[in-house]
Amino acid sequence: MAFVLGQNQVYYSTVLSSVPWASHGFGTATGSPVQNDAHASLHQTHSDHVLFIEQSGEKQDDGDGLITRTLGLWISIRTADCLPILLIDPDNRAIAAVHAGWRGTAAQISRAAVASMVERFGSKPTTLLAAIGPGIDHCCFEVGEEVATHFEPFTDRKTGKAHVNLKAANLHQLLSSGLSQANVDVSPLCTVSSPGFHSFRRNRTEGRMVSAVQIST
Ligand SMILES: [Zn+2]
Repeated sequence: MAFVLGQNQVYYSTVLSSVPWASHGFGTATGSPVQNDAHASLHQTHSDHVLFIEQSGEKQDDGDGLITRTLGLWISIRTADCLPILLIDPDNRAIAAVHAGWRGTAAQISRAAVASMVERFGSKPTTLLAAIGPGIDHCCFEVGEEVATHFEPFTDRKTGKAHVNLKAANLHQLLSSGLSQANVDVSPLCTVSSPGFHSFRRNRTEGRMVSAVQIST
């Protein structure tokens, strides 16, 4: 389990790379896994809404998770500190892409994505593969109590300020949905404190990284 940086400045999860018929990548400030191919994205609203999709199109609807079985269609998420999470069902040839900021995480978007795959594709959570990509880490995610209250088990107050670990919160949602720890990659990279990423918290950027997954063959 690991993330590797490709020559195109895109990160790849070794867990997801084990599936021969799928392509995926977690973008940086200078690299995107999606070039000019057909792709679908959402108008992201920090919700727990997961949409089943069969056709390409930009921002075609409101929501924060996409699931598909359509061959050749990239499903993509845009982030700048929020977490991009990609899932693959190796048995049913199905995929998901999730945008998880603190509001979506509090609304249990990762759990909702797994439930949508189970409902729509008959996915078995124990066989699903997932990767939580680069995003804001607890080192840099200092929050007020109004946010921390949603994440008690994942909040650290050692410094006197509340720091939330969104990656741990989403990992917990995936594992408690039935995924196996060995099947989930978690990037150690923090987009605020690591170079090469767009970070809203660091510099209020308009830039976004693209992360995406595709059934490629
Ligand atoms: Zn950090």
